[in-house]
Amino acid sequence: MAVHTVIIAGSSSVNTPLTAPAPSLPLVPLIEIAAPAFDVEIEIAYATAQNITEQPVYGRAACYLHPDAAEKLQRAIDLAKPLGFRLKIFDAYRPTEAQWKLWNARPDPEFLADPRRGSPHSRGVAVDLNLLDADGRELDMGTGFDAFTPLSHHGVTDGISPAAQRNRLLLIGLMTSAGWDFYRNEWWHYQLFDSRRYPLIDDGKAAPPMM
Ligand SMILES: [Zn+2]
Repeated sequence: MAVHTVIIAGSSSVNTPLTAPAPSLPLVPLIEIAAPAFDVEIEIAYATAQNITEQPVYGRAACYLHPDAAEKLQRAIDLAKPLGFRLKIFDAYRPTEAQWKLWNARPDPEFLADPRRGSPHSRGVAVDLNLLDADGRELDMGTGFDAFTPLSHHGVTDGISPAAQRNRLLLIGLMTSAGWDFYRNEWWHYQLFDSRRYPLIDDGKAAPPMM
């Protein structure tokens, strides 16, 4: 028993504190991601009832990112365009208040960041997205956005068609080439490296309120 206690106490999931470390970067105004400045399609899922809470989490559909993330988003747009693809964004900056609503509905650390540690979305440095083909259709990724299933993981071959695997690899190739880090459990989620350097942002603190 003592041996098991030592192993459990040494695991990162137990020892990681339930608080976010102090950010090293200051709070700065977020940039609104919208056409025509950014050639993207935006469909903010949490402004609709089509999410795990089964009601709108945001009072207003809006898309904001930290300037560092906005710059890398533009790079992804520029890389996708000559290949005939556009980006479709489901979520970007997510107020900490919204992260609590999602967490309270589904406290599953495999798919959601504990709001006490903070989501990179709540720092304005994460984006959930798919690609659109030349006809404006979303690529087949094998699951929908926010599908809370192991089939959403990168590298899954059982149960995901080769075409969908190819599409996921296209998205991860575009996004990582543009400077984004990926999350192995969600094909749609990308974030900046060292995201914890950026401060968590409450609703209305760095952009017009969304809640
Ligand atoms: Zn995400």
